[in-house]
Amino acid sequence: MKAARLHTLGAEFVVEDVPIPVPGPGEVRIRVGAAGACHSDLHIKSGGVKGVDLPHTLGHENAGWVDAFGAGAEGQGLSLGDAVVVFGGWGCGHCHFCLGGTEQLCDRFRWGGMGPEGGYAEYLIVPSVRHLIPAGGLHPADAAPLTDAALTPYSAVKKTLSRLVPGTSAVLIGAGGLGQYGVQFLKMLTPSTVIVVDNDPHKRELALELGADVVVDPSAESATRTIWDATDARGAAAVIDFVGVDATLATAAAVVGRQGIVVVVGLGGGSVRYSFFGLAQGATLTSSSWGSRNELEEVLTFAQKGDLVSHIERFPLAAINDVFGRLHHGDIVGRAVLIP
Ligand code: NAD
Ligand code: ZN
Ligand code: ZN
Repeated sequence: MKAARLHTLGAEFVVEDVPIPVPGPGEVRIRVGAAGACHSDLHIKSGGVKGVDLPHTLGHENAGWVDAFGAGAEGQGLSLGDAVVVFGGWGCGHCHFCLGGTEQLCDRFRWGGMGPEGGYAEYLIVPSVRHLIPAGGLHPADAAPLTDAALTPYSAVKKTLSRLVPGTSAVLIGAGGLGQYGVQFLKMLTPSTVIVVDNDPHKRELALELGADVVVDPSAESATRTIWDATDARGAAAVIDFVGVDATLATAAAVVGRQGIVVVVGLGGGSVRYSFFGLAQGATLTSSSWGSRNELEEVLTFAQKGDLVSHIERFPLAAINDVFGRLHHGDIVGRAVLIP
């Protein structure tokens, strides 16, 4: 099969022939229908996120069709040819976090595409039937980004809901692949004013289309003031940062209001100085990693009902280096998906 593999940090992916993987006991082979090109893979590729042994097939936003069962995996609710989405947080299945339903936080980090081989290939091995959810009529190209680009902001927004009561504001920083869904979840699930901060005018335009109430260019001299004013000078009840560099974290800390919450999702590697006087009184600073399998089911339900708009650009897998070049330069509006 064709697989796009990363051999060297900082280098291009190599599209090459590798053997079609054979599912072991309990495993399922998926014919990949589409794999979303996540900015996290750009961080991995550039060496900003460590821990992936090379060479490796990345790709952790996957959907496709059941292609083969390993011993014992058959007869657990899925049939050959079924369209499925792949929950990516593959854990051990029996630690505290797995049993609590948050397998993405498992003691043994085993995400497909970041350890086990991922979906930038024609076929993918998924370690258990429990990571597969029927696509319910969604095409894999539409469904793949839901497994991370939509799931992650959904889980982040849920962490803020108790604070987002009428009269409050939420600030979303970075309206890219993830942020496009973050805007929609904030609008669907809360009565808050949604303020989107992005330095790219095309992303700000998309955010407005998706329902943002106010958009702000962070490079404008008065940006922080503009955001603050848009919160009715109360500060934001919630800030979700989908970038996570020093500059965006500084903005987040500057605009969060008393007893508000800052949720860091972006893997930009920035930091923010935390002190009693540095952050609004009683504010919470936290991070959010992916989402749970049950939350993915909830996201899929929204999509199946037609409640989510996905801005997706499709590319053949062979164009992977062009796609990551564009992602690096901010030239993808929404999410790019790779079709093998
Ligand atoms: P993306 O490239 O599609 O979107 C990033 C957006 O941020 C773009 O719209 C860009 O214009 C904007 N941006 C960049 N720098 C900015 C700045 N200084 N101020 C304001 N806006 C800025 O990326 P994505 O795929 O949506 O991923 C976003 C981040 O989330 C990445 O760091 C990615 O690694 C991370 N991520 C985290 C998780 C998690 O579980 N925590 C999951 C998936 C992705
Ligand atoms: Zn991702
Ligand atoms: Zn576990």
